[in-house]
Amino acid sequence: MRAVVTGAAGFLGSHLCDRLLAEGWEVLALDNFITGAAENLRHLEGNGKFKFQKADVSDALHVEGPVEYVFHFASPASPPDYLKHPIETMRVGSAGTVKALELARDKGAKFFLSSTSECYGDPEVSPQHEDYWGNVNPVGPRSVYDEAKRFSEALTMGYHRFCGVDTHIVRIFNTYGPRMRLNDGRALPNFVYQALSGSPITIYGDGKQTRSFCYVSDLIEGIYRLALSDEHYPVNIGNPSEITILEFAEKIRAHFPKAPELVFEPLPEDDPKRRCPDISKAKRLLQWEPKVNLEEGLRLTLAYFRETYAKSVAK
Ligand code: UDP
Repeated sequence: MRAVVTGAAGFLGSHLCDRLLAEGWEVLALDNFITGAAENLRHLEGNGKFKFQKADVSDALHVEGPVEYVFHFASPASPPDYLKHPIETMRVGSAGTVKALELARDKGAKFFLSSTSECYGDPEVSPQHEDYWGNVNPVGPRSVYDEAKRFSEALTMGYHRFCGVDTHIVRIFNTYGPRMRLNDGRALPNFVYQALSGSPITIYGDGKQTRSFCYVSDLIEGIYRLALSDEHYPVNIGNPSEITILEFAEKIRAHFPKAPELVFEPLPEDDPKRRCPDISKAKRLLQWEPKVNLEEGLRLTLAYFRETYAKSVAK
């Protein structure tokens, strides 16, 4: 069994490669490194079942030989990243997704789309169930990501309905863990970097907005189960423990003997006020639910970030 993984050098793409290899798959990994890092795949060098090819899947996607599964994980995913690469983000959600779907169609392979809770925009209902159509500003700054992902879901359902491709869609909620970039600009890496470097922790807005953080091993388990399932409609995978950003910052501060101070900065435009997954569908269909609580997940993630930070300072 051979899988193609786009965005393989990213945070989630690289963990997915590990899981596929552990399950006995051969993996062809693709990435253009605009936000991915070669370091995330370094440990797979020399693995006979693993091959890496530098490629921008929005331009072309030619793969020799048989393929049984295409996992489309390529896209900037952190708000500062997709605002820095808006055109690339829209291209990989549209042209890149078409190319990945056509690869699956032409090879007779299954297709898996990594979508996002951003499809719900700034939700008016909470927790968010898969049947909720969302509240997205189609012309706001975040639309470069939100609408690209909504379009990639529409493309996926289109290729499923009209071309018979066996497709699957996961809506990923906030995820954290080793291999996130320390400077990717999301809340967790920012707070940890700030705490490690002795700078104040930046809270955007009043910090009362909520998120629900899922540890990466739980997320990958949900994704793998969904990939093997018969479900074609989107499935939420995330941890339903909802927390305010202020509470989240406090939890991180508690890990540092000299707690950094907090500073309040303006809330980015269209920043969702609440986000929490309804995971009843994943529980029912996949018998999946998260196992790693925030305390344990933070301990593992902080150990990784401390090491990465020490290496970056030593350079
Ligand atoms: N956030 C913050 N300070 C930071 C980075 C992020 O207060 O330094 C807030 C951000 O405004 C949002 C939440 O933390 O409300 C989560 O942001 P993140 O960028 O991690 O991802 P999002 O869930 O918005 O995609």
